[in-house]
Amino acid sequence: MNHVVVVGSSLAGLRACETLRTEGFEGTISLIGAESELPYDRPPLSKKFLAGDWESDRIRLRKQESFDALDLSQHLGVAATALDVPSRTVTCSDGSMVHGDAVIIATGTACRRLPNQPTVDGLFELRTLADAAALRQRLAPEARIVVIGAGFIGLEVAATAKQRGCHVTVLEAGPSPLIRALGVEMGAAVASVHQRNGVELRCGVQIVEIVGDSHVTGVLLGDGQLVPADVVVVGIGVSPSTGWLDGSGLTIRDGVVCDETLQAAPAVYAAGDCARWTNRLFGEPLVGEEMRVEHWTNAAEQGAAAAKNLVAVASGEPPTPYAPVPFFWSDQFESRIQFVGRAHGDDQVHLFAGSVDGSFAALYGYDGRLRGALGVSMPKLVMPFRALIAARATWDEAVAMAGSMLG
Ligand code: NAP
Repeated sequence: MNHVVVVGSSLAGLRACETLRTEGFEGTISLIGAESELPYDRPPLSKKFLAGDWESDRIRLRKQESFDALDLSQHLGVAATALDVPSRTVTCSDGSMVHGDAVIIATGTACRRLPNQPTVDGLFELRTLADAAALRQRLAPEARIVVIGAGFIGLEVAATAKQRGCHVTVLEAGPSPLIRALGVEMGAAVASVHQRNGVELRCGVQIVEIVGDSHVTGVLLGDGQLVPADVVVVGIGVSPSTGWLDGSGLTIRDGVVCDETLQAAPAVYAAGDCARWTNRLFGEPLVGEEMRVEHWTNAAEQGAAAAKNLVAVASGEPPTPYAPVPFFWSDQFESRIQFVGRAHGDDQVHLFAGSVDGSFAALYGYDGRLRGALGVSMPKLVMPFRALIAARATWDEAVAMAGSMLG
């Protein structure tokens, strides 16, 4: 193996490049990335950077010297448009073709859009540094900000905008915020910090139209009400950036489908938000659970894991199944939300510390097993459960440990 092509220059792609080097790969690494920026960190885009507390130099994932030390053949500012799997050749938007002995796909996700979403001044989505830089110009005191979607982007932007003195309304289609991440009950509990801080949070609404000719003026709801706005931010989720793989022969099903070692085809691996793989720690024993995870920690760990397995297989060694306990955090007003594991709508939830009006901790279980743990501003009561989930602990063991932690 002399040449590895890494497609995607964000966290998962960067970690794949770094791991190839630390695993001893001395050949050529081509890094292809649609953005011309050096890799940067996305979590601050909805928090410290958006608030104006940090500038872009503070969110670079690596200093220029460390990046240069990786000795990459850089193709930044060009998007991959096709992959020929048998020859592992990537075609790029500038017409160039990059042929490797192996490919790591780390193209992440793109923002979902509303049906008939217009292109109009004052309407934003938040995925890139350029998006965040443009939005933060508009977060002036007293500005009326309407956020569509009460997921992570929506709630983090809402908190930042409110702290900058804006009037903020969040519109969510579902019955509660953060349902996919935390379920209905805990999603509502976590988001109550917004109401306490003066954000208007409206769930179960239908968005009919973004109103405004040259500039956005409001959002029309299904009940006929017009919510006035100077700025509208759409944060209604993301979809894997896999359109460029159409016709490649890879299996694409809400992500690049991989085996449990992250291999999508011989010498083709995937990592980060765009990868769908089977995690044997969850689901039925020996079967596992197919998942795609859209959080920072997974992008970092999975990029490294894909590169390690690629090097192992090329050296005739067995690859290692990728079976992490997912973890994410989110900062919103005074709350630090942390979650380890997985949550499903039908999980049993056990609040074991604090109160849902402020700081608290809860366990998530299913079928007699521990599946997740949530903490709001209670870090010491969350992280110990990561090891317990990895050990496939029973629900009773987890509840007993929660009790013992409280003394
Ligand atoms: P998200 O977390 O999936 O939340 C999107 C929310 O918008 C969901 O509640 C969704 O409901 C709702 N929604 C969908 N269509 C809607 C509509 N037409 N009208 C109103 N609400 C609608 O996605 P996101 O907030 O856009 O975040 C994008 C990505 O960035 C995600 O991958 C997220 O994990 C990541 N991110 C992570 C963090 C963190 O970990 N701290 C922070 C920021 C961003 P349904 O679920 O019912 O569709």
